[in-house]
Parts: sequence; C-alpha cells; structure tokens
Amino acid sequence: MELRLCIDCNGDSRCRISSWKESDDRMMEATRVESNGVQAGSPRPPAARKKVVIVGGGFAGINAAIQLGNQPVDVTLIDRRNHHTFQPLLYQVALAVLSPAEIAQPIRSILRRFPNIEVIMDEVTGFDLSARAVQLKSSGSLSYDDLILATGATHSYFGKDAWEQGAPGLKTIEDAIEIRRRVLLAFELAERQKFETGTHPPLNFVVIGGGPTGVELAGAISDIARVYMRKDFRHIETAKARVILLEGSPRILNAYPEDLARKAQETLTGLGVEVHPHTQVSDVQAGYVIANGERIDTVVTLWAAGVQASPLGKLLGLTVDKRGCVLVDAFLHPAGHAEIFVCGDLAHVEENGRQVPGVAQPAIQMGSYAGQQILAAMHGKGLRPFHYFDKGDMATIGRQSAIANIVWPFHAHWSGFPAWMAWLVVHIYFLIGFRNRIMVLMQWAWTYLTFTRGARLITGSMVLPGWAELSATSLEASSNASSELQISELEISRESYKE
Ligand SMILES: Cc1cc2nc3c(=O)[nH]c(=O)nc-3n(C[C@H](O)[C@H](O)[C@H](O)COP(=O)(O)OP(=O)(O)OC[C@H]3O[C@@H](n4cnc5c(N)ncnc54)[C@H](O)[C@@H]3O)c2cc1C
Repeated sequence: MELRLCIDCNGDSRCRISSWKESDDRMMEATRVESNGVQAGSPRPPAARKKVVIVGGGFAGINAAIQLGNQPVDVTLIDRRNHHTFQPLLYQVALAVLSPAEIAQPIRSILRRFPNIEVIMDEVTGFDLSARAVQLKSSGSLSYDDLILATGATHSYFGKDAWEQGAPGLKTIEDAIEIRRRVLLAFELAERQKFETGTHPPLNFVVIGGGPTGVELAGAISDIARVYMRKDFRHIETAKARVILLEGSPRILNAYPEDLARKAQETLTGLGVEVHPHTQVSDVQAGYVIANGERIDTVVTLWAAGVQASPLGKLLGLTVDKRGCVLVDAFLHPAGHAEIFVCGDLAHVEENGRQVPGVAQPAIQMGSYAGQQILAAMHGKGLRPFHYFDKGDMATIGRQSAIANIVWPFHAHWSGFPAWMAWLVVHIYFLIGFRNRIMVLMQWAWTYLTFTRGARLITGSMVLPGWAELSATSLEASSNASSELQISELEISRESYKE
C-alpha cells in the first residue's frame, strides 16, 4: 500500500492526489492530465470523509466555508477569481476613493486557518446532477456529497447586451476600474481639449437606474466633480459637470420606504444631480443615450438598471424564476435535491409570501445556514427551515449623507449624516480582514478631512468610447459660433461706418 505524492502539494494529507493508492496510479495519471488535479467519479480513499463543494467565494460561499472550517468534512471552494469582493464598497473604487486591494481579499488567505478547506481558482461550467459532480472550465470535474451553490448575480441589459459597451455596470473589481478609467479620462480629455482649442464637449454623466447602486454612483460622481477635483484643473470647470440619473419607474429607490426615497432625492438634488423618474431609456450608444425619445449626449454612461442571476442557475436544469434565480424550498434545496443548497443572490427564497432580497445580509445568513445544516445532518439532527433575520437596508448619497431603513434592534428611518455614520460603522464591521478595515477607515478619514481623493489613477486604454464624435461636434459648434460672432461683429462695424 504505497502512497503517491502529488507534485503540487508534496504529500499534504488533505490532497486527494497524494492519498491515491498505487493501484490507482494509471487513473491518477490520466486524471492529472485531464483535470489538473481535481476529478469526478474517481475512486476515493476508503475512509473518505464527506465532501462538500462550494461554488462561489462571495458573501454566501465564504460564510458557508467558515461554518465548515475545522469540522470533519473535506471542503473545496471553487471561484473563478482568486479574491472575495466586498461589493457594497465597489462604487468607492469606481469613484477613486478606495483602491481595489482595500475592498478585496484573496479567498485562500481568508480561509487559510482551516486545514480542511482547499480553494481552487476555476470556473464551474456545468453539472452532472446524477453523478453529483460539477464540471470545471479547466476541463476536469469534481464530485461532491453536498453542493453549496452561491455564484451570485450579474448585470442584465434586458436582452440588449450590446449596450454594455456604451454603459458598463458595476459588479466586479474590473468593472470598478473601468468606470474609474472612464470618469477620470473624461475630465482629462476635456482639460486637454479646452487647453488646445478653447472648448470641450459638455461633461454630462448619465447613470441609468435609480436603485441603491445608481444613487450611490450619481452622488459620488457629483462629489468628484464639485468637491474633490474642483481645484485640480486649470482650464475646465469640473463643477459644471452635469450628473443625470434616469429611472424608469415613478420614483428612485423603489425597495425603500417612500419617505426615505424622497429624502434621498432631495439630497441628490442638493448635490446637483438631475433626477429623472418616469424616464425610459430606449438606446445606449457610445457618446449618447436616448431617453423618453430624446437624445442626451454623454461622456460617460453607467448602467445600474438591472440584475439577473448567474447563468449557472439555468445550467442546473431545475426550475428558475424570470431572473434566472433557482427556486428553493424552506431549506434552500431545489426540488428533489436535498444534497444541494442554493444560496445568496442566486436563490429565489420566499418567506411570508415575499422574496428575500438579493443583498449581502441574506447571502451571509444563507451561506452560514447551509454550512450549519450540513453539519447538523452529519450529526443526525433534524433540519430547521431557513429564516431571514432582516436588520434593514442602507444606501449612501454623496460623501456625508445616507438613508437607513432600520428594522433591528429598533424600527427607524434615518437620513442625512446620522444614517451615513451608521452606514460607515456597518460597512467597516462587515468588511473582511482587519488590515482592510483599518485602511478603509484611514482612507475615509483622510478623504473627509482633506477633500482629496486617493486612487485617482487612469490605467488601461486612453480612449474614451464616443469622445471623438462628441469632441468633433463641440469643435464644429464652437467654430460655427465664432464665425457667427465674426459676421455679427463685421455687420456692427459696417453699421457704425455708415453712421
Ligand atoms: C455595486 C454593488 C453595491 C452593492 N451594495 C450593497 C449594499 O450596500 N448592501 C447590501 O446588503 N448589498 C449590496 N450589494 C449586493 C450584495 O453585494 C450581494 O447581494 C451579495 O454580494 C450576494 O452575495 P453572493 O454570495 O450571493 O454572490 P457574490 O458576492 O456576487 O459572489 C459570487 C461569487 O461567485 C463567483 N462565481 C460566479 N460565477 C462563477 C462560476 N461559474 N464559477 C466559479 N465561481 C463563480 C464570483 O466570482 C463571486 O466571487 C451590492 C452589490 C453591488 C454589485
């Protein structure tokens, strides 16, 4: 009975390849080539412990893993990225307050204290439910006894995927860096054009979608233009930038109580944001959008209008709702699959006839629940249904205002600075990693006190989609205006000569 050592782990007892017996040598070689170290349906060591596969290292996946840490189960967490992103602070990266590293943390470093958890960076591309295996992009597959599926949500352009080029959405660190690039580049290009030609296209920033993300983005762009960059440029007046928030329904922040949504709109208006409810966007192109049939020229358009579940939900082949979320029962199982838990934004969970919202707290609670239920079942304990403990919602509006719909420990509607302080405390508390908490607090304090913003770096391409056309139009308009001016000056001088 000889053990083979895996070349990657050099014999770590938890490595599945290292624990192969000699008789499995040939298959091991084949599967090593096939799957780079992870495989489905292959022989397992005799005293195999329960295998739990978690797909997704977001709020739900990480919390499920933490529950299972240091427990008698073998856990593999798969994520297509190597880091967990704290999405509620993404807009702070997009608008150059925070750096990406301050809101993201490598998944393996979050989980390194748990020897029974391994982390694989790969993308799950499908399932074999009867073989209890997930398929991986790297061409292998991985078997499980229990599966926790938590791959979250993504943007929805309502079938108009081509709009993404003109209006990026905000979901990942890459999205945030792209938005930062476009917003900062717009100011730089305007400064250069004003310096060279004396004119520049109107600095219109359009945000489509008046939910929390749209409101946060609009407030933050207004802050950048009116507060933080006002003194940085010599030729353009950044404070004259227009920030236009378009919302299709009668009001912004539909998921919030009406009084808080009204307060938010007043605050946005105070920040100079033009809020347009009842406005349907029918086209998005680089350089302009069509809203209620009218064209709005725009240097940067951002999409915050729709989300849909991760495509993996549909790939399960089970029942999904119209956004692609998997319908699950009170135990987070899809019908007929007690070995699968679907958690977070990917799950359609109903409680008291209402769908549990797709935000961070339910995802955290569902992930923890799934981990606890797997352990309870191992100990032969009965299952209790999932219950969402709703503590409330918050959204920021600009640098020192927010709204908070507090449900626990007391009921209250807060707005303005107190709500912003509450938002700050909650977000620092839930941010993963002590270093990140300290860094973010320091950055905020610095930004708040000095009116300067940190990570204002433009990286990547120096081309802004639509800028060339907008710039040509503004130059033409300016040269027409100057020739009209010259003609009228000439006419005035002729008149005065006659006199
Ligand atoms: C800009 C923004 C701001 C937000 N602000 C707030 C807020 O203020 N408060 C709040 O409560 N909520 C907020 N949310 C919502 C909140 O972030 C989500 O509800 C939460 O992240 C959902 O957690 P999750 O674990 O279900 O999914 P996610 O956190 O999205 O994690 C999913 C993970 O799955 C991985 N993944 C996806 N597909 C695959 C695949 N095929 N294979 C392998 N891995 C895969 C992804 O890389 C990701 O790591 C915000 C969201 C965004 C985008």
